[in-house]
Formats: sequence, C-alpha cells, structure tokens
Amino acid sequence: MNPLVAKSITVSFLLISLLAFAEQAKSQTGERYEMDGKPVSRAFYEAGLLVTDANNLLRANRNQEASVKLKQAIAVAPDYAEAHYNYGLSMAKLGNSSLAVEQFHTAIKLNPNLDQCWISLGGVYQSAGQIEDAIQSYKQFLTRFPRSAQASQVSNLVKGLQNELGSGSAKPDAQGFGASAPAKAAADDYLADVTKRGTLRWPSDHHVIRVYMRPPVNVTGYLPRYDAIARQSFTDWANASGGALKFQFQSIPTNADIEFSWISDASKLVNKAEAGETRLTCGKFGIVHGTVRILTVPLMSGIAVTPNRIRLISLHEIGHVLGLTGHTSNPNDAMFYSATIGDEWRNLSPRDINTMTRLYAPATASVNNGP
Ligand SMILES: [Zn+2]
Repeated sequence: MNPLVAKSITVSFLLISLLAFAEQAKSQTGERYEMDGKPVSRAFYEAGLLVTDANNLLRANRNQEASVKLKQAIAVAPDYAEAHYNYGLSMAKLGNSSLAVEQFHTAIKLNPNLDQCWISLGGVYQSAGQIEDAIQSYKQFLTRFPRSAQASQVSNLVKGLQNELGSGSAKPDAQGFGASAPAKAAADDYLADVTKRGTLRWPSDHHVIRVYMRPPVNVTGYLPRYDAIARQSFTDWANASGGALKFQFQSIPTNADIEFSWISDASKLVNKAEAGETRLTCGKFGIVHGTVRILTVPLMSGIAVTPNRIRLISLHEIGHVLGLTGHTSNPNDAMFYSATIGDEWRNLSPRDINTMTRLYAPATASVNNGP
C-alpha cells in the first residue's frame, strides 16, 4: 500500500475585541457629583448616568437604543471621552464603521489613556478588512499599555493579522470604509483567493461525507442549540455545492470523515487569537480527513459568544474543511479572515455559494500544491 502524502493545515478565525466601559456614577449630597471616586461637574455626572444605561443596552445588543442615549450624553457633556467611545461602539455594532472610527479618534484625543479605545479602533478596522490600520491600532495599544492584562491577547492578534497579510489573502482594502459599504466583490466568486495553497477537495468518489459531532463534556458556554446551528451550516454548504456534497451525521467516531467538536479551553488551539480551528489531512486524491473545533467561550471580554457568532464561525470552519483553505478580505464572505462586529444571523452570500459550486464542479481538479 502506498503511503499517502498527508499534511495538515491549520486555518482559523480571528476575533475582534469590542469592549464597553462600565462607568460608575453616583450622586453625592448637595451640589457635588462623583464618578469613579472623583468629583465631576453635574453635566459629566448626568452624561455618566446615560453612558451606564447605554452600556447595558449595548451588552443586550440593543444598539439603536444605546446610540440614542449616547448621543444625549455627548450633547450634555461634549468633552466626556467615554460618551464618544461608547457612541462609537454603538455605531460600529450598527454597521457604521466610518462614524465609529471618527468617534474613537475623538475619544482618544480627549483621553489618550482610554486603553480599550485603541483595541476597539483596531477591531473596527479589522472587521472592515483594513488590516494594516488594524495592526497599527493594536501596536499603539501595546506601546502605550504594555502591562495591560490584554497585552498578550492583542499581540497574538497582531501576529495573526500579520500572517494574513503575509499570506496575501487579506490585502488592505483600497476603497476604505466609503459609505460603510462592504468591500466590493472583484468577481462573482473568490475561489482563487482561498485556494492559494492548492486546490483541495474531497475526492469525487467520496462525496457522501460522514460527520461525527462529538457530544460536549464539561464545555463551558455550550448551548444545545449550537448543534443545530452547526448541522444547518453543513447543510447550507452542501446545498451550495450544487448537490455534489452530502453529509451523513453519525453517532460514533469510527470511520467518520469529519470530526466536529466544541471546546472551551482556548489553550488547546494552535493560535491563541482564534475562535475555531480546522485541520485537514490530505492524500493523493484530495482531502481524506478533517477535524473542526469551535470555541464556545469569548477570547476577550466584551465580545460575547452568541448563537449568531457560532453560526458565522461554523460556516467559516466548515468552509475550510471542505477545501476553502484560505481567506478573503471581503467582510461579507464567510471566508473573511476575521470575525466581524455585527452580531446578526449570517447566511451564505452569493459569492460563498458560487465559490463552493465552482470548487465541486466536475471540471475542477484537486491539485495539492503544498503549503
Ligand atoms: Zn479561517
């Protein structure tokens, strides 16, 4: 029996960080007001109350309501940096990246010690595909706050982004934010972008793929509905393949082609800035085995794991295990190199569907070019 030419590819998902300030505001007797133990003007105090309210709304993903309160806070106290920072967060979550960046810059100008602001600025750039600006913001954070508890996570993020930049899969997007328009599709599919390491496919005589979903044991953050989300994601990609691929879910690991599991221990992943990991084993005729592991806990505080995010990460990692091994720089693609700020349910885009259809169209040969 000939030994198979096997190799592993580890390709994962980067997380953005989105943190809100919990501002403590309390009234003192008489005309004195304090925030965080320091005396402040009545205007700052009132703005602080609004920011605290807005913070709870942001956490509940009620971003529109939060933005109304934050706009009021800015009107009451225009020099209050936290109000601008949180207004920027609400804008980012509502998809207005350019206004978010503007507000973050205002906040930093008012108070350069707002450490989270540098991370969130990086997150908005990353989420919009502006990878070099993202790296610059994270580096500013690391230079200014080297002893922050988040320094090691942020430096992992920088490493991950530099890898994307080096691989050429995430070119900086020349058009910038524009009118918060997503990066324009250069083509109707992105097959060329995600197959730079070679075109990998499950072999044409192996298109019924057996999936074993490992039952979670002691996995923090896991919700039973995540299984249904993952299965739906497999099915959506199968439909995108134009009927070429079918998935069979089995309850035992024996002879499974893909092993899918949920994990809550981020230290088990190769890259510490990633929310999931896919490994592929390949032979002469294409992919022979894959493992997908998805993290059920947030890597950084402030970006909660929600069913919507599990959906996007599932689509992304399953895309990898089916042969889309690279990344794109278009935030609308399931294979975009980063998590995005928006916390909403995502379906495969026309570009995702076209790419998978093309990958499994009969004319596409599986060529393993090596890494
Ligand atoms: Zn990936």
